[in-house]
Amino acid sequence: MTSADTARLLERLRAREDGMDGDVREVYRHLGRAGVLAPSWPEEHGGRGGDFTETMVLLEELVRHGVPQSLYYISVQIVGSLIMQSGSEEQKRELLPRLASGELAACILFTEPEHGSDLASVTARAEPDQGGGWVLDGRKTYNLKTGYADLALCVVRTDDELNRYEGLTLFLVPLDAPGVTVRPMAALAGEQFHDVTLDQVRVGPEALLGAPGAGWSLITRMFAAERSGLDYYARARHWLDLTAERLTDAGREPDSTELADLARHRARLDAGRLLTCRAMQQLQEDRPDIARASMSKWHCSETAQAISWWSLEVIGVPLLDPGRDEGVLEAAYREAPGMTISGGASEVLLDIVTGARLLEDVETGGN
Ligand SMILES: Cc1cc2nc3c(=O)[nH]c(=O)nc-3n(C[C@H](O)[C@H](O)[C@H](O)COP(=O)(O)OP(=O)(O)OC[C@H]3O[C@@H](n4cnc5c(N)ncnc54)[C@H](O)[C@@H]3O)c2cc1C
Repeated sequence: MTSADTARLLERLRAREDGMDGDVREVYRHLGRAGVLAPSWPEEHGGRGGDFTETMVLLEELVRHGVPQSLYYISVQIVGSLIMQSGSEEQKRELLPRLASGELAACILFTEPEHGSDLASVTARAEPDQGGGWVLDGRKTYNLKTGYADLALCVVRTDDELNRYEGLTLFLVPLDAPGVTVRPMAALAGEQFHDVTLDQVRVGPEALLGAPGAGWSLITRMFAAERSGLDYYARARHWLDLTAERLTDAGREPDSTELADLARHRARLDAGRLLTCRAMQQLQEDRPDIARASMSKWHCSETAQAISWWSLEVIGVPLLDPGRDEGVLEAAYREAPGMTISGGASEVLLDIVTGARLLEDVETGGN
């Protein structure tokens, strides 16, 4: 595929009349063939053996060139990284190179109609079957990218006797397994939500990720990756750049209020980049810190939300001028309410940050 083909693919994605995110998998496969989709993974797993800064540059560039990033972020950065850290040798061998090449895509089935922030209360279940496999039942909701994914990382309860944290288990469920029903849900933002029913879904022993009952510790590890803040920071930077271009269009001079706002948002973004780097470096050094990652996700998502709202305030209409980039900003505006909910609601993240800080104070006697 040439760069002209890539440009044509991206143009088709942007031109969807329903305003929803299109199928970006062909672009990912192209990037995967070029070996750039998982730059910080070891070469044996399909990566380039780089460090977290290469992932950061990749995300910044994907966003800048209009490539939808969330399927990549979920598949490679969240699910793939968890498999690399906690999967069996067979899962790593079978799944990681295919995720890194864009051939395989994954989504996350955690939230249930009654349980979002309080994940330890999930009620979907799995029972062992006679042949060493498992049978899954339950309902998941508000899941992104399920329509384009092959595999779902799913949390279910496998033991009611233990406390609610110890009875949770993770599975990698093939979405084409009999008994899986995926239904689209209405959404304000341009990304499609899905509601997923698992009805007597049979999976083999190879679908188990980690040990039965080890789900909560793996989820905590996964949250440290999901909450690095990287995707919010990278997109917010692009939105701010687009807005700054508009404010200086054709030699226009921004007024003093606009300049002050631009500087304030730029400073918050710079801080977000540093917080993101720290969270990603801690993951790379295998010392994930859920409180510091939560701080980064809180800061970056609140900043992204504030920038998307401010951008439309200062640019105003026309929002959907097809010849320009306002479509990106209009989509960001619609997405904004969900930014401080997905991957951990802001109130819950602040609770984690303050809880960890209080614990530090207790341990150090407040010094
Ligand atoms: C854009 C987007 C993408 C998503 N993608 C996925 C996905 O791919 N897979 C998936 O499984 N789920 C996904 N979700 C669901 C998301 O994880 C949940 O919406 C989120 O965890 C919050 O859960 P809830 O909606 O049930 O709200 P609740 O947990 O009911 O929270 C409602 C409100 O109460 C507040 N609250 C809750 N607990 C506390 C507390 N202890 N202290 C203070 N305040 C509290 C929350 O902050 C929030 O404001 C997505 C959501 C969004 C918006």
